[in-house]
Amino acid sequence: MRKKIIAGNWKMNMLPNEAISFINEFTPLVNNTQNEVVLCVPYTDLFYTLLNVQGTNIKVGAQNMHWESTGAYTGEISGEMLKCINVDYVIIGHSERRQYFAETDETVNKKLKKALSVGLKPIVCVGETLQEKEDGKAIDIITAQIKKALDGLNEEEVKNTIIAYEPIWAIGTGKTATAEDANESIITIRKEIEKNYGKNVAECVIILYGGSVKSTNAKELFTTSDIDGGLVGGASLKPEEFAKIVNFDKE
Ligand code: PEP
Repeated sequence: MRKKIIAGNWKMNMLPNEAISFINEFTPLVNNTQNEVVLCVPYTDLFYTLLNVQGTNIKVGAQNMHWESTGAYTGEISGEMLKCINVDYVIIGHSERRQYFAETDETVNKKLKKALSVGLKPIVCVGETLQEKEDGKAIDIITAQIKKALDGLNEEEVKNTIIAYEPIWAIGTGKTATAEDANESIITIRKEIEKNYGKNVAECVIILYGGSVKSTNAKELFTTSDIDGGLVGGASLKPEEFAKIVNFDKE
């Protein structure tokens, strides 16, 4: 059975003192969960977060990385740099990076290969815009993104890749895909993986939903057949609210 992962994406929020207060309040609220709990924090919070989650069940992730190991890439951070300070996860290809920072399917693929090669757990984001949804192109867009992101990976690497289906129209808007629609899209992603890598691989891949997840809709989303948890933005900034999402299966 696939493990549920609940990952918070803090985006460009939280000063170190705020991160530490969050962790102090959040840790006791989630210490009984069987779900994997991940905080994807800004680079400047990584060190403080890693220190403060020591001895807890909380894992730490970054929100981006470069595909090269070292070099003249001012302002960038490599996968090796993240791995060597004990970061476990990294988000790759978030729609905000695709929209504002020229991330493409090609750079997503390069970053994914590097993340896997250094032992980071990549969370690769895919999803359609509102226009693409309205034009009936959502499935084509998502399957093309998946195909390009996974290009050149072997079966083991695909198994180790976490995918987050995040319809762009649902991110930070308060609009959530219905549990049924989100599950259907994720089934389509799993079928696309099955087509190229076989059923065994497809059944192992963890696929998350993201887009205005809250404590009030988490259970409905995460108890469908194929949604294996969530990537949570806004609601992951509030310890109590995020803990309720992590504990969706406890009520
Ligand atoms: C996200 O940042 O990946 C996200 C899904 O944001 P929100 O939960 O705020 O929609």
